[in-house]
Amino acid sequence: MIKENLERVRSQIKLAEIAYHRKPGSVNLLAVSKTMPAEDIIVAYQAGQRHFGENYCQEALKKQQDLGAFDITWHFIGPIQSNKTKALAEHFDWVHSVESLKVARRLSEQRPDYLSPLNICLQVNISAEASKSGVGLAELSGLCSQIKELPNLVLRGVMAIPAPEDDVERQRMPYRLLHQAVENLLDPSLDSFSMGMSGDLEAAIAEGSTMVRVGTALFGARRYR
Ligand SMILES: *Cc1c(COP(=O)(O)O)cnc(C)c1O
Repeated sequence: MIKENLERVRSQIKLAEIAYHRKPGSVNLLAVSKTMPAEDIIVAYQAGQRHFGENYCQEALKKQQDLGAFDITWHFIGPIQSNKTKALAEHFDWVHSVESLKVARRLSEQRPDYLSPLNICLQVNISAEASKSGVGLAELSGLCSQIKELPNLVLRGVMAIPAPEDDVERQRMPYRLLHQAVENLLDPSLDSFSMGMSGDLEAAIAEGSTMVRVGTALFGARRYR
């Protein structure tokens, strides 16, 4: 089913690009393969998917070993523990879930010289819930300037996981807020908006997402061990 799911999600993205006057091809698909076996990644790869997102460091490293022969761009999108920054700096192309200067500094220090700078996004908390992780909108500007000083990182943009909503209009609101906040920084190097998952990708695309992170709609329900 993965191949069919990929085709369906790709056409959903295409239709949303048209509906919301986005440039064709401006929204990239990140396949979120957490908890899924390497075999599932291969099936998606054979159907043309190259960008994969993982949440758990140990699990991701194991899959990367098994899939060493494949030309995959690896994205880390999960919560970051300080003792995992070295592994992330060494084994990923992107980290979407940076939410402190401390973690950014470690990633920059631990990025090996033989690799190009690590692409990162700042995870921003755009829901009112205090429990949600991410930096506040008020901290965004200051943190961006500090992170941009770090030599082995490229700050690409922002990532957000809003509280779930069923209604598309309600789903759009936090994304609109975030997009506006980044526009206000007047920094063209912030070109990436990691926004949207299986349940709200249309709303995220409407509000300027450049990367939707899709798991369930591609691979089915997750298999937690
Ligand atoms: C698991 C996860 C996703 C994928 O969610 P689905 O609803 O399965 O598409 C996207 N982003 C993050 C940060 C995740 O942890």
